[in-house]
Amino acid sequence: MEKNCLFCQIANGEKPTEILFENDTLVVFKDIHPAAPVHLLIVPKRHIRSINDLTESDRPILSELMMVARDMAGRQGLAESGYRLFVNVERGGGQVIFHLHLHLIGGWQK
Ligand SMILES: [Zn+2]
Repeated sequence: MEKNCLFCQIANGEKPTEILFENDTLVVFKDIHPAAPVHLLIVPKRHIRSINDLTESDRPILSELMMVARDMAGRQGLAESGYRLFVNVERGGGQVIFHLHLHLIGGWQK
């Protein structure tokens, strides 16, 4: 838990946010600046700054992020129409919040 980290605050329930899914490892909520009709963030509860800061012990977290993203896409009705999963890494890669998160976007008109 990083005191001034927005995503740590959300994961700890310190910042009122509509949580769409939660388990022991992660939380899922909507991006406040959606880039698509559906834009969810899948966020590990543990504070990991970026992909660059992952350690061996984080492997299960990464696996969980992907599996939950897949499930959330299904729940949002995107499994058939398709969607994108991506991670921005550091400023040059477009990362704005320095707490690792996986983007799920989709829901465009066909
Ligand atoms: Zn954090």
